[in-house]
Amino acid sequence: MAHTERIALPSPTPGTERHLVVHRFGAPGARPKVWLQAALHADELPGILVLRHLTERLARADRDGRIAGEIAVVPFANPIGLAQHVGGYLVGRYALDGAGNFNRAFLELRAPLADAVKDRLTGDANDNVALIRSAAAHLLERRRALDESEVLKLTLQRHAIDADIALDLHCDDQAALHLYVVPQQASALHDLAARLGATAVLTAADSGDVPFDECLSRPWRHLAEAYPDKPIPSDGCLAATIELRGKTDIDDSTAARDAGALFDWLQSRGIIAGTAPPAPAALCEPTPLDGVDVVKAPHGGLWVPAVAPGHRVAVGDTLGTLISPAHQGSDVALRTRVAGVLFARSSPGLVRPGDRVAKIAGAEPLPDRTGNLLGD
Ligand SMILES: [Zn+2]
Repeated sequence: MAHTERIALPSPTPGTERHLVVHRFGAPGARPKVWLQAALHADELPGILVLRHLTERLARADRDGRIAGEIAVVPFANPIGLAQHVGGYLVGRYALDGAGNFNRAFLELRAPLADAVKDRLTGDANDNVALIRSAAAHLLERRRALDESEVLKLTLQRHAIDADIALDLHCDDQAALHLYVVPQQASALHDLAARLGATAVLTAADSGDVPFDECLSRPWRHLAEAYPDKPIPSDGCLAATIELRGKTDIDDSTAARDAGALFDWLQSRGIIAGTAPPAPAALCEPTPLDGVDVVKAPHGGLWVPAVAPGHRVAVGDTLGTLISPAHQGSDVALRTRVAGVLFARSSPGLVRPGDRVAKIAGAEPLPDRTGNLLGD
């Protein structure tokens, strides 16, 4: 039956302590294990409402004995960021103490894990999965962290590392629903994207940093390639970052629909008993993350967008205008160099030189899109 766990983080200052909450459904230790979390970027809040709706449905399913595996739901994955109010604004993407982006720099396990299991892999896929999960857990257990943000990341990674499925719910500034996945899992997650109505599914084998989803999904592919003579599933953990539209897209009926899509998808994978309705046709095919045209402001000014998220644009289309308040006649139309769906953009307002104002999902890799593909 459902139960709720409270995980304390270390006290950063006298008289202060934060904690995570994990709602667990199904039988502890049962497979498949699913990990769902929201608001790791603490100012990206639509996922909190989606998980509220999903939790209600999971609780009913659990009461009816219909959960075959174990489902863990973390309604807010970043209590540190949730407390970062500055000048009346919630600032939840970066730790204000200088510890960086909350969804970067999770522990990279590929090389140490390959080393840890190299002499112990067998010809049995199930044994290898169990070995890899246990070795990964051991590596994370040995890791020490003192800084509160580092402890938070390590705690999330430790609890999710043995999951069969992990979904991390985020959102962009203004956006249509889109997903980030590793390429080898794009087909397995195709149904999920279709059920959620995703307008873009962006794939990268290595985004250039270690966000939460990739710290869980990437090691499996690496191990399968490092030991091709051993049976190792490259989707030992199916993981995705789901961008639930824009920051202000917090709407009860939309969240209920998103929660329904997640519930149906989990049901279609046999984690919840019953027959899920068929998935609708997908709205998009996966496209490479290094094919995304990240349009930047060439100078500071007032960004006035002209294309709504979710709309398809052609090469050379104007996406919006950069107004230079001091110089009449020097306004600049910002255009895209690819054809595809504009899946995210900056809110209208003041931008600085180099700020990313729009992202378009192009179908082909762009030569200058290398290194850190997610940006910071
Ligand atoms: Zn985010």
